[in-house]
Amino acid sequence: MASAVYTGLAMSCIFCKIIGSEIPSTPVFQDSLVYAFSDINPKAPVHLLIVPREHIESVSEAGEHHRQLLGHLLWVAAEIARQKGLGKGYRIVVNAGPDGGQTVDHLHLHLLGGRQLAWPPG
Ligand code: AMP
Ligand code: ZN
Repeated sequence: MASAVYTGLAMSCIFCKIIGSEIPSTPVFQDSLVYAFSDINPKAPVHLLIVPREHIESVSEAGEHHRQLLGHLLWVAAEIARQKGLGKGYRIVVNAGPDGGQTVDHLHLHLLGGRQLAWPPG
């Protein structure tokens, strides 16, 4: 797969490096807009990350022109859940900013499933 061309903040972004194959990952889904891979520190039997190929720092930084992409990310998460057989349910999480627990500043959806998940989250 061709590496993404990225500049500025994205050059030090681990998810941009994963998308560009500079850092290894276990892919589960990819298309022209999105790359999805296994979380390195899984919090559930299924824990995947769905990221846009474009470097967007967080959902808070997504612009009006990203509305279609945001919808696509959600659809990809549901599609992967179907492929993984998560018929009993699952959770899609988007952490945003320090209080939201975001540790990687490249927008991503967590897809968690394969066990009963507690609510509310900590
Ligand atoms: P967040 O805390 O919402 O920003 O989520 C970042 C997620 O990225 C965490 O669940 C990490 O375990 C995961 N992560 C960090 N580095 C890697 C990596 N190299 N490969 C896969 N997942 C990673
Ligand atoms: Zn990035």
